[in-house]
Amino acid sequence: MNDHLMSTYARLPVSFERGQGVWLWDTQGRRHLDALSGIAVCGLGHAHPAVTRAVCEQTARLIHTSNLYGIDAQERAAERLCRVAGMDAAFFCNSGAEANEAAIKLARLFGHQRGIQSPTVVVMENSFHGRTLATLTATGNRKVQAGFEPLVHGFSRAPYNDLAALEAIAHNSNEVVAVLVEPIQGEGGIRIPDPGHLSAIRRLCEAHGWLMITDEIQTGMGRTGAWFACQHEQVMPDVITVAKALGNGVPIGACLARGPAAQVFGPGSHGSTFGGNPLACHTAETVIGVIEAEGLCEQAAAMGSRLLDGLRDRLGGLSGVQDIRGLGLMIGIELERPCGELVSRALNEGLLINVTAGNVIRLLPPLIITEGEADTLLETLHRVLATYLGESPPASRET
Ligand code: PLP
Repeated sequence: MNDHLMSTYARLPVSFERGQGVWLWDTQGRRHLDALSGIAVCGLGHAHPAVTRAVCEQTARLIHTSNLYGIDAQERAAERLCRVAGMDAAFFCNSGAEANEAAIKLARLFGHQRGIQSPTVVVMENSFHGRTLATLTATGNRKVQAGFEPLVHGFSRAPYNDLAALEAIAHNSNEVVAVLVEPIQGEGGIRIPDPGHLSAIRRLCEAHGWLMITDEIQTGMGRTGAWFACQHEQVMPDVITVAKALGNGVPIGACLARGPAAQVFGPGSHGSTFGGNPLACHTAETVIGVIEAEGLCEQAAAMGSRLLDGLRDRLGGLSGVQDIRGLGLMIGIELERPCGELVSRALNEGLLINVTAGNVIRLLPPLIITEGEADTLLETLHRVLATYLGESPPASRET
């Protein structure tokens, strides 16, 4: 689209100039239902009045000072975020990758403080944790890593949702300090672990003195119908990373910790110039307040069930649909074959969706979506998908 931008993204031929709730208007004046929320960012939808007010008021008052000084908004955001997450302390940064970097550094320091020379973090196959060197190494996807070798040392990998593999690692290594896991794999295709799996990881971590780190960057802030997805199983990790929806579009991430993990960093251990500035933190505390005041965790749960039921009802019988799964408003529809093309087909019908892991349609609509809007989403997706599958039936069924 522009010669002066590095071509790191395969962009769709559309740009937007205005948003309201779940709706976006493109530069041609066409309206689109945003069923992706800027990839799980705009949980409160677009132009939420409380967020707009917070950004405008804080911008007029003070955008940035520095972590050389006290920042009241940062203290308030930390207090609120720790309260909803059940954590003790927060480190603020500016993105998901940075939140995970902080968590990985915290885990390594935790290990060194206990005399472990070469601390190792266990990560999962098929995972996604970001694009910095440490987080792309943690990511279980060769495409993300290829060309950026040498990768970072200190990671060991296990299949997702496989407790026996983690137990085998526990048996064979004295260097493990932490397990880093997404409670639901997002980029990996909306993979939901078996019931009890996260609790089993919690017990394993306790038995071996490891930190349990959950990457809630995509699942967090109410998306799955609870503040954090690990709360569905009452699992209390030692460290939670969060970003995306925390600022509803204003860049902010956080690494949260409790118990001994919250005591690991000291002055000089870690830092960020922008991290936790007044603008980002006042926005985040406002976002948390709105999620609470508007009951958006409950709304995500209710709308998620409605959408899942509707999808199973309408799409479940279509030939070529393999699985429909989700929790709250984090939903995947797995097809029997790659379906990236559906993104532009849906766009033409005024619906923004995403395809991840090649063959999984991913829906991450704003938490404020209404019943009527959810029904519009269902109808449009059904139309697009039925046409697509009708035109080119899966190879296995052609014969
Ligand atoms: N972790 C998870 C689970 C994610 O889904 C993402 C982004 O998609 C990240 C980390 C990286 O976040 P960011 O792009 O803000 O660095």
